[in-house]
Amino acid sequence: MSDLRLSGIGMTSARTRDRLVQRLREHGVANFAVLDRIRNVPRHIFVDEALGSRAYEDTALPIGFGQTISQPYIVARMTEALLESGANDNVLEVGTGCGYQTAVLAPLVARLQTIERIGPLLARARLRLKELGIRNVRFRHGDGTLGWKAHAPFDAILVAAAPLTVPEALIKQLKVGGRLLVPIGPDGQQELVRFTRREQRVERESLGNVAFVPLLGGTV
Ligand code: SAH
Repeated sequence: MSDLRLSGIGMTSARTRDRLVQRLREHGVANFAVLDRIRNVPRHIFVDEALGSRAYEDTALPIGFGQTISQPYIVARMTEALLESGANDNVLEVGTGCGYQTAVLAPLVARLQTIERIGPLLARARLRLKELGIRNVRFRHGDGTLGWKAHAPFDAILVAAAPLTVPEALIKQLKVGGRLLVPIGPDGQQELVRFTRREQRVERESLGNVAFVPLLGGTV
């Protein structure tokens, strides 16, 4: 990929990105490292070229296979919620999609594992992250509801699609003190929840209403 395509011009330029960062700050995102990633990750390379001019709008956009690239505000909010709450040496992401959230998060943690159920999306995400020179990510084509036992336990797990109820397997793969960030509920009625695993119990905190695609079983 050429340097020009990565750095962007016109609607994908630095000024357009700064406007997005400003908007996220106005909406309460305060973590500088996160805002810096939003400014520096070229979101336009994760969407179809025809949608490139809309890449720095604060909206979800289609990425094919009935899926969407997450809204930048949500990516920033989830990343911030994850970073502020504890250690981040070993992290799992469920729902790689086009890899945008993966690219924002990866340099902020030591090791990131990511699972996607749609093979072609995962392949594309892998390629994009390689182009960006991001090397601390392991990719898996699979059902993320089951977690990734071989690399567990995790300091944090971030889920980018909504199950109807808490995925127990993911809670089990948390370290003590580990957090699971997951949108829960049916279409139109989801809330973002942060679970924290303690020695004898699991804490639950609501972080507000959100809209995500559903978490589905199996692979395609
Ligand atoms: N954060 C992503 C957005 C992903 S949309 C981005 O920035 O692009 C949610 C993704 O979760 C979709 O790609 C969907 O295929 C995937 N997904 C849904 N259920 C899943 C499951 N059980 N395991 C892994 N991925 C799943």
